[in-house]
Amino acid sequence: TMLLEFKQVSKQYGTDTKALTDVNFAVREGEFVSIIGPSGAGKSTLLRCINRMIDASSGEIRFNGVDILASKKSELKRLRTQMGMVFQHYNLVDRLSVIENVLHGRLGYKSTLEGVFGLYSKEEKHQALTILRTLGLEEQVYKRCDQLSGGQKQRVGIARALVQNPKMLLCDEPIASLDPNASKVIMDHLRNISTTMGITVIVNLHQVDTALKYSDRILGVNKGTIVYNGHPSGIHREQ
Ligand code: ADP
Ligand code: ADP
Repeated sequence: TMLLEFKQVSKQYGTDTKALTDVNFAVREGEFVSIIGPSGAGKSTLLRCINRMIDASSGEIRFNGVDILASKKSELKRLRTQMGMVFQHYNLVDRLSVIENVLHGRLGYKSTLEGVFGLYSKEEKHQALTILRTLGLEEQVYKRCDQLSGGQKQRVGIARALVQNPKMLLCDEPIASLDPNASKVIMDHLRNISTTMGITVIVNLHQVDTALKYSDRILGVNKGTIVYNGHPSGIHREQ
């Protein structure tokens, strides 16, 4: 069954920048999909249209059967908890600890104040600790985020998304600021999250080799259109 469907999706910025034109694709539950293409191709716009960080100009986007573009604010909030987002620059609160950042994510859709005052249930904290252990961060739990390496910060970013029990992770250039070793650790975790937890992973990458190595499927984007949609093994012939 299809978890995500794009039908004739277009996005125009202002009056003359067509960032996406008639984009069609679908993603199955549990799939690991990489979006690749040159800078300015529309990769980031495409990814951000999924959770409506950016509003598409026209077309239809369905997540789990629900029409995202027609969703009201409250419905969208609920849907966004099912679509965890991971950012290139981590977007952590540097002065808070790892566990606080992760639980913050859990409460993001309720009230940030609850997080600030430490109102978490035992189960929520237990789940956060389990996820942090899975990501190899057991020794960093109470450290402030500004004391972590980039790779560790990105694992916190992933934990913050996972603690909401998402169906899907949207990762916008998650390794673009990391060295090769840290990049491998992050990609291995993302692959594992897809394979063992059954969570759908959609990731923007400018490293083509990495995309080919880790993905079930590649979406190649150029000038706002999909120019490749298929298995990684087909890429060298088509591009
Ligand atoms: P990529 O992620 O592949 O580098 P983007 O989605 O960031 O591509 O950008 C696609 C096109 O849309 C580019 O021409 C870019 O300059 C333009 N663009 C992106 N964001 C905005 C914006 N907020 N306002 C105007 N143009 C934008
Ligand atoms: P990043 O990849 O870290 O998001 P970018 O330089 O691609 O950095 O974009 C930074 C911000 O500027 C984003 O919000 C993007 O949508 C916006 N942006 C990108 N291109 C343009 C553009 N041509 N005009 C206006 N805003 C843009």
